Amino acid sequence: MTRTVYVNGEYLPETEAKVSIFDRAFLMADGVYEVTSVLGGKLIDFDGHAVRLERSLRELDMRAPCSKDELLEIHRKLVELNGIDEGMIYLQVTRGAAADRDFVFPDPDEVSPTLVLFTQNKPGLADSPAAKKGIKVISIEDVRWGRRDIKTVQLLYPSMGKMMAKKAGVDDAWMVEDGFVTEGTSNNAYFIKGNKIVTRALSNDILHGITRAAVLRFAREAQMEVEERNFTIEEAQGADEAFITSASTFVMPVVEIDGKAIGTGAVGPRATRLREIYLDESRKAAV
Ligand code: PMP
Repeated sequence: MTRTVYVNGEYLPETEAKVSIFDRAFLMADGVYEVTSVLGGKLIDFDGHAVRLERSLRELDMRAPCSKDELLEIHRKLVELNGIDEGMIYLQVTRGAAADRDFVFPDPDEVSPTLVLFTQNKPGLADSPAAKKGIKVISIEDVRWGRRDIKTVQLLYPSMGKMMAKKAGVDDAWMVEDGFVTEGTSNNAYFIKGNKIVTRALSNDILHGITRAAVLRFAREAQMEVEERNFTIEEAQGADEAFITSASTFVMPVVEIDGKAIGTGAVGPRATRLREIYLDESRKAAV
C-alpha cells in the first residue's frame, strides 16, 4: 500500500508529494518538527506536542501554518487513511521556500510556511523486545548548538552520534558537555538510585521531552522521588537502573553505559514499572 502523506493542504501518495529545492529546511535546516506516537489508532500526548511546536515556532519567529485543531484533524485523517494502529506521525514545519537562497528570513507575508506530515507504521511498537532486554549506550561529546530546547531539523550530529554507537556495537549514545550528561541523541536520559530518579533539569541545553514531563509526573504519583540536576556518566554507571524516554521508545531501560553494566546488568523493576504506567496512562488519555 502506498502511503498517503500531507503537504500544504493536500493528501497525496508519497511518490507525488513535492517540496521546492528552495525550501529553507532543505537549504538551511530552517525548520522544526514533532513526532507523535499512535497506539490503538489514537494519538499519544497530542496536546503536549502541539504546545511544544507552537513554542519552537515562536522561538524562531516562524508563523504557524494552521491552528491546533486543524493539526489534530490532519493527524487523525492520516492515521485513518494509512490504517495506522501502532506507529508514529512525523510533522515538519519550515520557514517555506523563498525565491532564492538568502540567509535573511523572507517576509512571512510573502512566503508561507511549508507543512508536511507523514505516518510511520510500526506494528508492535509498544511491545518492543528491546524494552525487555534493555539497550546499551556509549558516551560522546555534545557538540550541538546552544538552543537544543527548540526542536529543529538540524539532526546531523545526533545522526553522527547514532553512527558512533553503531560502530561501537551498541544501540545509542548519551551526550556529555562540561563533564555532565545532557541527553541521548534522540531521547532524555535518567538513572535510578534507590527510590530516586535523577535527570538533567530543563534549560536551553536539552529538549523538553513530552514523554519526560509525563513520566516524571507518573513517577511522583507512584511515590518515587525525582531530582532534576546535572549528573556524570560515572554516577549513572553506579546506579541501580537507567533509562531513556522519547515519544517513540516510551520508557526504554538502559543496561550498559560505556561497557559498564548498570545494576545487575538486566532490566530493572522500576524502569519496567514506569514503562507500564506510562503506556497504560497514555493509552487512557489518547485522542
Ligand atoms: N531529546 C532529544 C534530543 C530528542 O530528539 C528527543 C525526541 N525527539 C527527546 C529528547 C525526547 O522528546 P519527546 O519525549 O518529546 O519525544
